Amino acid sequence: MADLIWPARSLLSDQPVADPGTIEAPLWQALDRLAGPLCTRCGIPLPDSPVPEATCGACLSRSPPYRRHRAGLAYDDLSRPLVLGLKHGGRREGLGFFATLMLDAAPFVREADLLVPVPVHWTRLATRGFNQAAWLAQALARRTGVPSLPDALVRTRATGSQNGRGWDSRHANVAGAIQIAPRAQKRVAGRTVVLVDDVFTTGATIEACTTALLAAGAAAVEAVTLARVVRQRESAAWQQDSCDT
Ligand SMILES: [Zn+2]
Repeated sequence: MADLIWPARSLLSDQPVADPGTIEAPLWQALDRLAGPLCTRCGIPLPDSPVPEATCGACLSRSPPYRRHRAGLAYDDLSRPLVLGLKHGGRREGLGFFATLMLDAAPFVREADLLVPVPVHWTRLATRGFNQAAWLAQALARRTGVPSLPDALVRTRATGSQNGRGWDSRHANVAGAIQIAPRAQKRVAGRTVVLVDDVFTTGATIEACTTALLAAGAAAVEAVTLARVVRQRESAAWQQDSCDT
């Protein structure tokens, strides 16, 4: 009934939209959905690549432990309010829309055995009350039928702010802070697992999660995120916006 009196509003503006939890067509078309040549491994755009399948220099020089990562959107000025509305605002109404974006970018999610969200430390869970990565994994599970195991990984210590850290420092900060929950070990062994998170920046967190899952016997690990930092400018913006990744 409320929908009849107050029509659904866009997630990004005051514009009315036909379907709740979506955005208006012009903004939908303006979203950078990371089409075009992408690194086969980390999913970074390779606009100058003459072939659709290529591997970026960073992944060539140091192969990431995960098989591949894809993101639904570039993290930029347009997508930023969507991500922050979920992460800090706890707005759940866009989850179905986000799952659509993520599945379009990462059809391999449908073939996985298990979805595992990137964990937050329990102190953060206590203050914020939710893990937005677990919400995204749940939305993907609902759409695909692939089960989500939200407590498979645990953050054994708060990793603090990653602000201003370079790649090596970020990696060292988060490595070893993520472990498999003992009761999840059997569920993970021999399985193809897709990690789920809201934002991919340097990949240090996804790598730490991958390492823990592979050590627990996962057959392969892939990753999907809602948004990916593509340029240095957005990386700085995200570091300001986020306080725990
Ligand atoms: Zn790459």
